[in-house]
Amino acid sequence: MEKGSQLYEGKAKKVFETEDPELLIISYKDDATAFNGLKRGTIEGKGVINNRMSNALMQLLQKEGVPTHFVKELSDRETLVKRVKIVPLEVIIRNISAGSFAKRYGVEEGIVFDEPTIEFSYKNDALEDPLINEYHALALGLATREEIETIKSCAFRINEILKSFWSSCGVTLVDFKLEFGRLPGCSIVLADEISPDTCRLWDSKTGEKLDKDRFRRDLGGVEDAYREIMSRLEQKLEAVK
Ligand code: 5GP
Repeated sequence: MEKGSQLYEGKAKKVFETEDPELLIISYKDDATAFNGLKRGTIEGKGVINNRMSNALMQLLQKEGVPTHFVKELSDRETLVKRVKIVPLEVIIRNISAGSFAKRYGVEEGIVFDEPTIEFSYKNDALEDPLINEYHALALGLATREEIETIKSCAFRINEILKSFWSSCGVTLVDFKLEFGRLPGCSIVLADEISPDTCRLWDSKTGEKLDKDRFRRDLGGVEDAYREIMSRLEQKLEAVK
């Protein structure tokens, strides 16, 4: 599949048209940003890892019946996906307190919740992705009530599948962000990516952070953390082949 004209360049990915109007090519970059673009840098090899990891996890989810935009991995950094209209909501699931949750409610990181939580942010760079509730999302026409219900049940199901997968790799899934899209017939599929950029992943034994927080918080060892989490995933996938 040939790459056509570039449709969009985001912080971590470029998106290209293809000869098929229903398919796009995503190309993953090594660029890293945090705090709504205030912090910028490069994580060498990140694009390759995020591409391969996201594809492996999307395929795992598809096998479990979760519809996703994934079609085919084309190369180290490029993947063919179904064209969707992104629902402008970031869907965040949390199993353990961390990040903005810990800050907002003045609690320490690491509190294990009895039940996972869900929250939405309005995807809007100019407004810095503000937290939004379902009623406000409906009022703004960002999604229908049915779509929000579908997204919620899909997100919790994804959490169960990924939590159990990462646990088998010796990794605790702390929290993560998902984005969903509408296919031409309007059905909802998981889109965007699932990677150490979009998930908090802690070593189950030591609590070591194996995700983008190493970049956000200047903890050092960023590239090593991405390589380590990828190698855990690959070893697991190899073992179950
Ligand atoms: P928090 O709200 O605590 O900053 O983030 C919660 C989870 O969602 C983390 O796993 C974080 O990586 C992910 N997340 C939230 N917003 C974004 C975003 O704008 N971009 C990316 N890549 N991940 C996000």
